[in-house]
Amino acid sequence: DNKQEESLSQMIEDVLELLRPQAKLKNITLDVLGEEPSIYCDKSQIKQVFINIIKNAIEAMEEPGSITVTIRLEDDEVIIDIADEGPGIPEEVIHKLGEPFFTTKQHGTGLGLMITKQLLERHQANLEILQNEIKGSTFRIRLPL
Ligand code: ADP
Ligand code: MG
Repeated sequence: DNKQEESLSQMIEDVLELLRPQAKLKNITLDVLGEEPSIYCDKSQIKQVFINIIKNAIEAMEEPGSITVTIRLEDDEVIIDIADEGPGIPEEVIHKLGEPFFTTKQHGTGLGLMITKQLLERHQANLEILQNEIKGSTFRIRLPL
């Protein structure tokens, strides 16, 4: 690991910039809002986490819409919500996400979320998957400050 203090919103903005061309093809907007803490992390590993989750969100969305990353602080944690407007994830599938090779895509590898979980563990962080009230899902990361 190569950990340093890094600006969380800047890392996320870098990832959004990287993925905007792919999102634009599907008329999906990508935004980050909320607090701007610094976190002690391996920058390329945390960027990879956001790439994996946001790429999945773009791939899940069949219609134009938005993907929003919200950062907030709670006690000694930073909570990052990545909310999409895709079809959501069926209850019976949620617990399989992150298992190696579990994919619902014709050409998927089923490795993205497994790697994501491993990278988060190295930061004592965890991942929760929530169903949105109206549509889509939210991937919630909790990172200790
Ligand atoms: P892959 O993208 O290669 O399929 P991942 O580990 O990244 O592998 O994702 C595993 C599965 O989780 C996907 O095939 C998809 O079924 C589901 N998934 C992940 N993110 C989302 C999302 N935002 N909305 C709906 N389904 C998702
Ligand atoms: Mg993936």
